[in-house]
Amino acid sequence: MDNTQSVISFDNTEFAFEYKSDQQLKKARFLFSMMGKPWMVKMGTRLAPWAVKVGLPVKGLIRKTIFAQFVGGETLEQTAEVAKVLGNYHVQVILDYGVEGKEGEDNFDHACEEFIRVINYAATQPNIPFMSVKVTGFARFALLEKLDTLMHEGEGTLMKRYLHAVELLPAEEKEEWHRVRHRVMRVCGAGAEKKVGVFIDAEETWIQDPVDALTILMMDTFNKERCVVYNTLQHYRHDRLKFLHDCYEAAVERKFILGAKLVRGAYMEKERKRAAEKNYPSPIQPDKESSDRDYNAGVKFCIDHIEQVALVVASHNEYSNLYATQLLREKGLPLNHPHVHWSQLYGMSDNITFNLAHAGCSVSKYLPFGPIKDVIPYLMRRAQENTSVKGQTGRELGLINKEMARRKKG
Ligand SMILES: Cc1cc2nc3c(=O)[nH]c(=O)nc-3n(C[C@H](O)[C@H](O)[C@H](O)COP(=O)(O)OP(=O)(O)OC[C@H]3O[C@@H](n4cnc5c(N)ncnc54)[C@H](O)[C@@H]3O)c2cc1C
Repeated sequence: MDNTQSVISFDNTEFAFEYKSDQQLKKARFLFSMMGKPWMVKMGTRLAPWAVKVGLPVKGLIRKTIFAQFVGGETLEQTAEVAKVLGNYHVQVILDYGVEGKEGEDNFDHACEEFIRVINYAATQPNIPFMSVKVTGFARFALLEKLDTLMHEGEGTLMKRYLHAVELLPAEEKEEWHRVRHRVMRVCGAGAEKKVGVFIDAEETWIQDPVDALTILMMDTFNKERCVVYNTLQHYRHDRLKFLHDCYEAAVERKFILGAKLVRGAYMEKERKRAAEKNYPSPIQPDKESSDRDYNAGVKFCIDHIEQVALVVASHNEYSNLYATQLLREKGLPLNHPHVHWSQLYGMSDNITFNLAHAGCSVSKYLPFGPIKDVIPYLMRRAQENTSVKGQTGRELGLINKEMARRKKG
């Protein structure tokens, strides 16, 4: 399709909410107005995890409200129904078995099997080209933290520091890390075999170096012919643009396709707080403008090197999403270029997703699923994001109100 000339607007709420009934829109409006009250979010994010943990009967309420807005379902089967609905509007899906913070070898093995089950399922569906994983789902957090510290003490390239750090681990932990690598390898291998892309999420900076090194090793193994494995780069970090350039050079040298999912980042408050408490320079950009500048520069860099880089614009920022379409247009490249994909979180920025889909872009919703108690950390991040991100709640409410008024008139 030659859609290089089409003009995209994110204002069309009819496309944006076509998949939602009036009732669902009303529920979304109620939820976003609650999340617009910082005191409510502060209280909710403290009480909800505790209430679920001690077994208070709050699951029904959570299921009907924030869970329904941001999560596909408690099981893969339930989530498949949501994925089908999105598929009807040419919106693809990134599945994420959203269990977080579970430690123990049995849980790590279980997560690995579950992710392979997700890949096998995704391979049978027309609109599930990717799935997403967190390395903390396969590895003890303290082990990642230890490796990260050892890497920081080392010298040379990321890969050199990584190999050296693994060597420094005591035999038992080396064995434990070997099992982590094996799990990640199995998941990426299954993705390669079934042609389902694997996104490796970015998490806290104090565990990120080993995650980056492991992901680059996976890209070097699986991304020779096509892009299977994608790393995530958080541009709220002031060092990520340079890291993107370094990864590109590694990709050229080792002849693999660099999978780059670009995000701004979800742990800003936590990062700043830790840096202040432990008295080290914050890894976060000094202000929002700097995050935006580096993010957009990252998008441009990837599109400038699109033969070698597979880009995922993972953002709710209207300018950044549009900017990627403009760059493609300027280069005379199609909006459905196989190395460019857009993605937004399920429950947010439908105006971007559905209008991009309408314009012929390859676009998806990031759709987590899992038991309520396990997806609580994800839900709390969404609640905080929708309060703390300047204007996000207002933006969502404005769009919902506009669409409700349009339907009323109609
Ligand atoms: C599909 C998808 C996958 C994602 N995966 C990950 C992941 O693996 N890891 C991860 O960490 N995040 C991830 N995110 C991103 C994250 O969850 C937020 O959605 C994202 O940071 C919000 O930014 P935005 O690009 O939507 O733009 P905007 O709404 O324009 O920007 C908000 C963001 O800007 C940054 N910011 C805000 N204020 C400041 C400030 N004062 N100084 C510096 N920076 C500031 C913060 O990152 C904030 O979240 C993902 C997002 C999507 C859509």
